[in-house]
Amino acid sequence: MGNRGLLVIISGPAGTGKSSVINELFRRRDKLFFSVSATTRAPRKGEVPGESYHFITREKFDEMLAKDEFLEHATYVSNSYGSPRAPVEEKLAEGYDVIMDIEVQGAKQVKEKMPEAITVFLAPPSFEELERRLRGRSTETEETIVKRLQQAQRELPELRRYDYTVVNDQVDRAAGELLTIIEKAKTERN
Ligand code: ADP
Ligand code: 5GP
Repeated sequence: MGNRGLLVIISGPAGTGKSSVINELFRRRDKLFFSVSATTRAPRKGEVPGESYHFITREKFDEMLAKDEFLEHATYVSNSYGSPRAPVEEKLAEGYDVIMDIEVQGAKQVKEKMPEAITVFLAPPSFEELERRLRGRSTETEETIVKRLQQAQRELPELRRYDYTVVNDQVDRAAGELLTIIEKAKTERN
């Protein structure tokens, strides 16, 4: 058995580029595992069930919750999101570094349960750029965009509580910085 993997929690407002940066990370680095969350929200165009998310019904979500199958869970703009616990535990034990893309309340829950995890806040270069990216993605209705921007206003001050902040100015550069943070955290731990 090799070393236990590192748990990396990534948060940041909708549209900041979390998926883009995480995808780039997976292109550059092996032995990574993405924690696929369960959500009650509808799939967006291009999202692959079981890859981006497990898209499930409210009933199924409540059932998983009742069985204590989530490591953490939260409500975000009227939908529920949760991280299935078992795959995270298994992959960490197998030595994979596990990446979680979760919002701030969930990040807090995981950090309390697993203080060895590192937390990274992916910030947009500016609020204006965030709005441009969110609108540019063209995957949400105007109502959802407005709610997500309001949510972003509430989330941005939370970056103070994170171990690291990475500004997603360019996907390549941000992914490189994230990779450096991960390697450094692993070296310091060992
Ligand atoms: P999130 O996962 O945080 O909601 P996405 O990865 O879906 O965000 O990115 C939101 C939009 O912004 C997408 O259209 C994506 O192509 C674009 N984007 C992501 N990172 C950058 C960047 N560094 N510069 C410009 N556009 C970006
Ligand atoms: P989106 O709907 O844009 O994919 O995600 C909305 C928000 O939910 C993002 O901030 C994302 O990080 C967060 N999120 C995704 N999965 C989970 C999860 O399992 N738990 C928590 N707490 N947040 C999640």
